[in-house]
Amino acid sequence: MRIIQASYIIPLNSAPIANGYLYMEDDGTIIHITKEAPITDQFKVEEYDGILCPGFINTHCHLELSHMKGMMTEASGLPAFVDQIPKQRQKSKLDLSRSIKQGDEEMQQSGIVAVGDISNTDATIEIKSESPIQYHSFVELFGLNKNEATPILNEGLQTLKKFETNDLSASLVPHAPYSVSIDLLKGIYAHNKKNLLSIHHQETPSENELFLEGQGELADMLLKKGRDLGAHLNAGKNATEFSLTPYLSTDQKILLVHNTYSSASDINGVLSHFTNAYWCTCPKANWYIERDLPDYNLWRKKGLKITVGTDSLASNDSMSILEELKLIQNKFPNIPTHELLSWACKNGAEYFEFDSLGSFKAGNKPGVVLIEQVDGLRLTPESRVRVLSR
Ligand SMILES: [Zn+2]
Repeated sequence: MRIIQASYIIPLNSAPIANGYLYMEDDGTIIHITKEAPITDQFKVEEYDGILCPGFINTHCHLELSHMKGMMTEASGLPAFVDQIPKQRQKSKLDLSRSIKQGDEEMQQSGIVAVGDISNTDATIEIKSESPIQYHSFVELFGLNKNEATPILNEGLQTLKKFETNDLSASLVPHAPYSVSIDLLKGIYAHNKKNLLSIHHQETPSENELFLEGQGELADMLLKKGRDLGAHLNAGKNATEFSLTPYLSTDQKILLVHNTYSSASDINGVLSHFTNAYWCTCPKANWYIERDLPDYNLWRKKGLKITVGTDSLASNDSMSILEELKLIQNKFPNIPTHELLSWACKNGAEYFEFDSLGSFKAGNKPGVVLIEQVDGLRLTPESRVRVLSR
């Protein structure tokens, strides 16, 4: 058994405790938390300065893009960013597997215990099979040419099968409302069968513009590349109304990723249909690409279930959930650390139904992370992770 004392313990299934004691089995299974010191000195108490919290859940990542670190132009806006990806994917295929492994290791070291990873190929299977991180892979498809919907879907199903035959949790998902034909979308939803869904959503202001007005930077970029935007262009509906609500039941569990430009009425539209929507934010990627962040105070006012992702190293310089939280608290100092940690740990575990993760509930084995270099209960630019148990 181990007993760990820290300046603050944030259990997430109960209120934060100052100078409390966390008791756990040697394998990391939580026994209980007390305010009082142990009555015997049979076990040496490990004492730390900092905040103790459960392991982080990274709900949005693209390990496959790990080799693109530092290659993409910053602050270029999403359309230009998306345009660069295929060229860079081609360039450095050789480094792919090494960089995926590095990405996985960096996440372990930064206290991440579970990841929702976007997979367009089977390139990550080997590393995921060997990693202590619990992965769910979103096998993601895109393609606007409706004549290619069937072959793209079949290829996706083959990739999905490879994950499943390697005992890896996976589900079929669309990339974004603007990048998938209606035929492909319907095919994906038919095969997803109420499994975990995820979609990039309202990441650029020009996404809604494409659907509502038939113009804007994103529409221009896609049309210039000869993409068949068909019914998407000027559909008179926003991204959600076009690609999600007509096809999915109200109790479908869905992870909406980014939502940087979701207005109050966009959010109301989602909430009036879906009872089980989760809102994933990737602040550092938004900052990298758009130099903008979502309006978290609006999200909080609406009571959204918020989760946190790192996105990929194509649009980030680290794979650390703590670094994401530091940026949020820096720009939104009113949001308390224990609330940020409930986004970063508890809500993600709930979305994936990783029942043993996300809180210090007795019997859980959530990983134990110490956040050092804090100012009381606040994060500082120097705050860093020390993994005490995984
Ligand atoms: Zn992404």
